[in-house]
Amino acid sequence: MSLPERVEILIVGAGPTGLACALSLDTHGCTDIVVVDAYEHGEDSSRAIAVHAATLEALYTVGCADALIEVGIQEPTFRLWDGSRLHTVADFTSLTEYTKYPFVLIIPQYVTERILGEKVREKGVRVVRPKRVVGLKINEHDTNMTDVLFESGEVIQARYVIGADGARSTVRQATGIKFSDPNGEIPSSEVDSSNGTVTQAILADVMFTEPLPSELARMLFILSGDSPFLFIPLPPEAYDEQGTVYRIGGGIPAAMGAPPPSPPISYLQELVDLSGPGAVKLSGDSTKLTISKTLWSTRFRTHSAIADTFFTRLGWTQGGQYYSGGAVLLIGDAAHIHSPAGGQGMNLGIRDAISLGAALATHRSVTEPVVAPSEYRRLDMPLKEWADHRRQQGLTVIALTKRMLSFAMARPATTWYLGVIPVNWCMLRNFVLGIATSFSATRRAAAWRLSGLGNR
Ligand SMILES: Cc1cc2nc3c(=O)[nH]c(=O)nc-3n(C[C@H](O)[C@H](O)[C@H](O)COP(=O)(O)OP(=O)(O)OC[C@H]3O[C@@H](n4cnc5c(N)ncnc54)[C@H](O)[C@@H]3O)c2cc1C
Repeated sequence: MSLPERVEILIVGAGPTGLACALSLDTHGCTDIVVVDAYEHGEDSSRAIAVHAATLEALYTVGCADALIEVGIQEPTFRLWDGSRLHTVADFTSLTEYTKYPFVLIIPQYVTERILGEKVREKGVRVVRPKRVVGLKINEHDTNMTDVLFESGEVIQARYVIGADGARSTVRQATGIKFSDPNGEIPSSEVDSSNGTVTQAILADVMFTEPLPSELARMLFILSGDSPFLFIPLPPEAYDEQGTVYRIGGGIPAAMGAPPPSPPISYLQELVDLSGPGAVKLSGDSTKLTISKTLWSTRFRTHSAIADTFFTRLGWTQGGQYYSGGAVLLIGDAAHIHSPAGGQGMNLGIRDAISLGAALATHRSVTEPVVAPSEYRRLDMPLKEWADHRRQQGLTVIALTKRMLSFAMARPATTWYLGVIPVNWCMLRNFVLGIATSFSATRRAAAWRLSGLGNR
């Protein structure tokens, strides 16, 4: 499919947020849309595997929730093993009075993208691949339009450009919008020299030689020592394999050193033995698990950043006067990134995308036919309000993921309170956890936060 010369709405990036945005715009009556992506095919790695209640509610409005629920696994709780006790940290079933989705849905990201992509095709929205955007500039003849420049030399004029092009967003960079940690933190090196802990983490989809203890038949988070470990059975649709595939992942014990780019089976096995199920006694016996196959593995460093604004207009100065041009919006990882703690990233992005559909449709209705730039300040309100609201939601999620990570991540076993009282961090953490999770109100509050229902 070739690119048109002109389109009303150009979405850059056909990841989960770009596709969800196209569906939402279509639902709100915007039909002149083109989605472009730099690659011929979508990513086929599982990455985000949790879809929360607020995201399912948003996906319901674009006709995709049922298809996801049909293939995903519904997890009613978030359980944590502290090395000797099982805690229910979040109880999603307690949310029944607030949502028709009182669970977290386990489904690999590429299956979510496949379902969104099928819906986009069914709606007849144009997706053009491979087309890489390399820059933006104000159209010389019509300042309401942006010229979007492609690596191929092609140019499209668009009235709205939506950057759904991921963490390294070309759209964001072309507008000069700053992207930084809201608390001014700087991403650390591979090993934190202050305490010797590894600042990277790994994720992998693997198979084990069976049988597995019954506790591992469902999602389980293990905090046996100083590194957190995640264990999640994936739905059969995840891979074309005989037997269950599991998502594993977590922090790296200092003894293992920095991980290689795609950690091999031997490295993953060591991690399972040191801080995963192999390091704890489940069902009363020590748990020896042997990985039989690795289907996907990656390492990553967790850091957070948020764009200064999610909406801008390309601007230029002439004769000492500043002028505003075409509208540019950011959604998903182009607008915010953070650690995968609590599985929030894709969820937040999809909710940005679906809420933008309504805001943009309102903006379009008040600015048609095209208005004079002097009117932008007044008429851009729907987009400004959408951008401020979504940025606030981004900040809330970043703060949540930082708190979760700081609670779970490695610390020296003993720290000195006031310099004189020795405190065993892991024992203290597990003690606090035991008390907190014994209350149903705490379990419900945790489920509420993770579900995104208070953060729609
Ligand atoms: C290893 C890993 C593990 C993760 N785990 C989780 C998890 O457990 N839970 C969770 O919620 N999130 C997780 N995430 C984050 C989640 O994957 C992202 O939040 C999600 O993919 C964001 O979607 P997006 O559509 O905004 O961006 P992306 O998925 O990055 O999609 C961007 C799209 O834009 C295209 N593109 C980029 N540049 C251009 C260009 N110049 N021109 C045209 N097209 C372009 C790309 O090809 C891509 O298709 C993880 C991410 C990674 C990398």
